[in-house]
Amino acid sequence: MTDIKSMSREELAAFFRQLGEPAFRSKQVFQWLHRGVESFDEMTNLSKALREKLKAECLLTVPKVARKQVSRLDGTIKYLWQLGDGNCIESVLMRYKHGNTICVSSEVGCLMGCAFCASTLGGLVRRLTPAEILDQVIFVQKDSGLPISNIVMMGIGEPLDNFDNVLRFLQLVNDPDGLNIGMRHISLSTCGLVDKIDRLAELDLQLTLSVSLHAPDDATRSRLMPVNRAVGVERLMQSCRGYFEKTGRRISYEYAMVDGMNDSDEQADLLASLLKGQPAHVNLIPLNNVEESPLKPSRRVKQFQKRLEQHGVTCTVRRKLGSDIDASCGQLRRKAMNHSAR
Ligand code: SAH
Repeated sequence: MTDIKSMSREELAAFFRQLGEPAFRSKQVFQWLHRGVESFDEMTNLSKALREKLKAECLLTVPKVARKQVSRLDGTIKYLWQLGDGNCIESVLMRYKHGNTICVSSEVGCLMGCAFCASTLGGLVRRLTPAEILDQVIFVQKDSGLPISNIVMMGIGEPLDNFDNVLRFLQLVNDPDGLNIGMRHISLSTCGLVDKIDRLAELDLQLTLSVSLHAPDDATRSRLMPVNRAVGVERLMQSCRGYFEKTGRRISYEYAMVDGMNDSDEQADLLASLLKGQPAHVNLIPLNNVEESPLKPSRRVKQFQKRLEQHGVTCTVRRKLGSDIDASCGQLRRKAMNHSAR
């Protein structure tokens, strides 16, 4: 079966040429797909014969809402999606003044093994297809009735570990005949796969790169993030500086504050010196409790922020949204998995 929604414009055009259909068909179908049709029969401007042919040859992905929770505190909506093969992923819709923002997953589970993260506890199950990443945006918008203007790739998975499919997704979601979401409205968050950061830099997209740094020294970062054991902070910074030089886009550094681990004044000083000379933004994240983890949230977030600011580092503390619905960091999928395991 052809995964028709994962196809690029060019592939789709070639596919229709092969079927002996005129070129404008591929544009019509592209528009239907990105509007979130749930069957080929909804494509009413196609002939019955063509719809039957597409049904026979193509896979039309339609994720099912396995669970939906709406925060009473701030209207954040969390979706647990069931994919075609039964696997589950989650997406979160956050309502900011500057527009509705969706946080999407890029993989089922994660290989990276970060000590504080719930998404990685069961390892990586599989990578998502471009269509499955895109569907989260299409169907959250459709189900909620809320227009989505911003995307953050900060859900389950490591987007740069699924490089080609994530790139295809970016291309699709950016298309004027599709959702038409501009690169400047998209952030991609990575644990720091340096080769992939370098490749991304070469593409010179205008998206915002967020780097999950979480510690300025190798000893601490390697304890928190196994990815650091092979490639240390210095090499990561080299790629980050290269990214800025190539794209002119300021990097945003994520820093989850863990009690007694990465929240000392010395570490704030070290972080500031690490970022010296590069335009950077630090986003301090109050650690979300993960039941399975002994790590606790820091009580020094404010002091740490102040210290960074004294060094002239631009720094914000992430606002917690949807805390009544576990709207962070793989918690819902985890709960659903534990539940079904019982
Ligand atoms: N794999 C990518 C994107 C997914 S995680 C990455 O590592 O960046 C999105 C962000 O949430 C990352 O900065 C991640 O480190 C952070 N995160 C994961 N678990 C967390 C937790 N329990 N508390 C706070 N932040 C967490």
